[in-house]
Amino acid sequence: MEAISVFDIFKIGVGPSSSHTLGPWRAARQFLAKHPDIQAIEHVEVHLFGSLAKTGKGHGTDIAVQLGLMDFDPEYFDVDSLGTVISDVEISRQLIVRDEHQFTFDPTTDIVFHMSESLPFHPNAVTFKSNLFEETYYSVGGGFVVTENEELSDKRTVTLPHHTNCAEDIKRECAANKLSIAEMVFRNELAWRTEDQINARLDQIWHTMLECLYRGCHTEGILPGGLNVVRRAAKKNREQIGDVPYKSQEQWCEAIQHLFVDFDDVVNWISTFALAVNEENAAFGRVVTAPTNGAAGVIPAVMLYAYLFKKASQEQLREFMLVAGEIGSLFKKGATISAAMGGCMAEIGVSSAMAAAGLTHILGGSTDQVLMAAEISMEHHLGMTCDPILGLVQVPCIERNTMGAMKAITAANMAITSDPSKAKVSLDDVIKTMWDTAKDMNSKYKETSEGGLATNISVLVPEC
Ligand code: SF4
Repeated sequence: MEAISVFDIFKIGVGPSSSHTLGPWRAARQFLAKHPDIQAIEHVEVHLFGSLAKTGKGHGTDIAVQLGLMDFDPEYFDVDSLGTVISDVEISRQLIVRDEHQFTFDPTTDIVFHMSESLPFHPNAVTFKSNLFEETYYSVGGGFVVTENEELSDKRTVTLPHHTNCAEDIKRECAANKLSIAEMVFRNELAWRTEDQINARLDQIWHTMLECLYRGCHTEGILPGGLNVVRRAAKKNREQIGDVPYKSQEQWCEAIQHLFVDFDDVVNWISTFALAVNEENAAFGRVVTAPTNGAAGVIPAVMLYAYLFKKASQEQLREFMLVAGEIGSLFKKGATISAAMGGCMAEIGVSSAMAAAGLTHILGGSTDQVLMAAEISMEHHLGMTCDPILGLVQVPCIERNTMGAMKAITAANMAITSDPSKAKVSLDDVIKTMWDTAKDMNSKYKETSEGGLATNISVLVPEC
């Protein structure tokens, strides 16, 4: 099985979706890079299939492929310029690649949504056709992209000191080498990067999350897409902390720490944090895929809870991400992190299991307790459907992150006070069950907006 780095799970990108925005964006860049001579491109067509067609509009897939074909890097793209860049394309009907070359592209006719066609390999398929050649890519969740003829396109041929394809492997490796999960993962990461590079990247991921939390807690307004969802995080932030303009994230964090908080306040803050990130995600903001964008709020919310209310240190936050990333990769290897394959349990469920494990580790849990926390959290997300209204990553997605965060904290608290040797269900059992459930789940509950809330909410149902 493939080697997956923590930094494959945590990627800096742009909202609202890892599979429908980030994946197609990366696929477009890969397609572009396969042209030995960019200048020879005269025209490109984009064909979206399956879930990418059905919810692509709401998830910004059409926007993502244009940005990818212009070779913008999602990690560094100036999200504030998005509206201008896309409206320039609409007006000029030209895509400009790296200021080096431009070719004709009319988004209204050159992006084709094949609403009733799905390709057999994976429901998230996109075919790019230029005047020179064509290629089909599959966005398999979490921003990962594969072609039909290769395995994971960003697969590395590295030899890791600790091979872990399931929870039993983690237990064995940690016990045999007397390592915590964080230490074991860190050793594996050294196969890709130096110690300093790993720590610097972990800190960059955390600071990107913190920026997103801060921005989300200080931005009012209506989310784009037509559902007219009012942003709530800034109002909740103001109600709890007062209407004070903080100049930096550090000042804001300090102010929260100095508040007197009871249980209800803590719960309210956790919800505020999760809402903040996912409102930013829905507004095409800068987010960290964790392990997806629809579920991007769970882990930052639990990490900020740990930082502010459990006094987690910088080193502990790094370890949180190492442990959480390892749990995310187990789900990717043994089941899926794609909602188009497994519904929302593959997004919110996995992020909640990751957060539960990370939190349990920094609270002092043993290896078995960390794995137990991940198991408890996923066990109570099994069967969760993906049914985004209007195909937007807003309802039920944004609130669902608050629930994922709370379940993670509950699971961590249960695991840390339990004896895992008495547990009836293992993490491997629950991963297998998740995959079995995913395969049985009706396709209308897998990111198609053809069932569930997406078809039943009263504002969309015509009056009798
Ligand atoms: S319902 Fe869940 S899986 Fe589906 S788009 Fe929303 S967050 Fe993602």
